[in-house]
Amino acid sequence: MISFEQAVKMALGYDPRMRKFAEYENAFEFCADCDDEAIGPQPYVIMKETGERVPFPDAVMRRRERGELVREGDIPASMRPAFFTLRDAVYGAAVGDALGVPYEFQSRGSFECTGMASGGAHGQLAGTFSDDTSLMLALCDSIRVRGRVDVRDMRRRFESWLHEGAYTPDGNAFDVGNATRTALAEGRGCEGERSNGNGSLMRIAPLAYTTADDDEVRAASAITHAHRISTESCVCFVKLIRNLVGGNPFELALKYSIPEGEQFAFLADVASRPREEVRSGGYVLDTLGAAIWCFANTSSYADCVLAAVNLGSDTDTTACVAGALAGAVYGYGAIPDEWLDALRAKDIIEQCLFHGFEKVRSWPE
Ligand SMILES: [Mg+2]
Repeated sequence: MISFEQAVKMALGYDPRMRKFAEYENAFEFCADCDDEAIGPQPYVIMKETGERVPFPDAVMRRRERGELVREGDIPASMRPAFFTLRDAVYGAAVGDALGVPYEFQSRGSFECTGMASGGAHGQLAGTFSDDTSLMLALCDSIRVRGRVDVRDMRRRFESWLHEGAYTPDGNAFDVGNATRTALAEGRGCEGERSNGNGSLMRIAPLAYTTADDDEVRAASAITHAHRISTESCVCFVKLIRNLVGGNPFELALKYSIPEGEQFAFLADVASRPREEVRSGGYVLDTLGAAIWCFANTSSYADCVLAAVNLGSDTDTTACVAGALAGAVYGYGAIPDEWLDALRAKDIIEQCLFHGFEKVRSWPE
């Protein structure tokens, strides 16, 4: 039998990130050339517990299902599509949001976020997520129940968040955005150029895990944010997540996500800008650019969301959007346990996750 590492290299081509697979060597016997017709010529493993032969991706999936999570960097990019699902992006967003809540409105350099904290302008307990995550959960819950993008149903759930505190840890909606409040009161999304806050971008990531087309993404934005800058920012972000989760290199994923129009052109090189030039206010393009910058200039989930919070200003939403992106790519297992432990209302998150729409591809192709 060839060595574990040799088999992985043969099967996948060398990727330095896969070296951590060696940690699992004791749990599996790994064979690259399977002559079992039922399994076919793909790499497989023999589970030591049961002696069962299992295709390699399924074996990793089982470990995840048992809570033995495959950690950040464990899965080569080429294998990620098979494993990375909605849960990664939603928890990534919620943890980023909760990290940022205590520092919202504080200026860059006036604080340093290193983990979950309490207090801030909203006086919340540590681990409390805000409107960003609540609206994302309302959107998820709608897809879970309706099985499609149903904007009337989504709007009803947004209203129940605003008026009844649904999808919140304490039954209380806080940090409500202006356009969101106005749009829900008037029953139609704000169309003015000045109504391009980040209020729809912050909730849109779950649509990357559905078959929603661009018009459906626009419609989900337009419930509250109907101007083209907001709707196209949402389309861009959904595409970016899909492209990254699909195993594409960052530069390529970004290139094929950027919408047409001069307002969006800066996104192409925002990643290489110095930190002083990265804006982190509430404008939707600030948030999108900042999230891309944080993701591109860090190499772990934790570093990405801390970078986002520490940009200051709209800390919770910047970290929510950056967290959705980093969560999608690095996976739920990459989120530090202490942050997940501190995150409140995980039962509500679990209730809202939808299943059956995730992009799951077989591997290898
Ligand atoms: Mg917020």
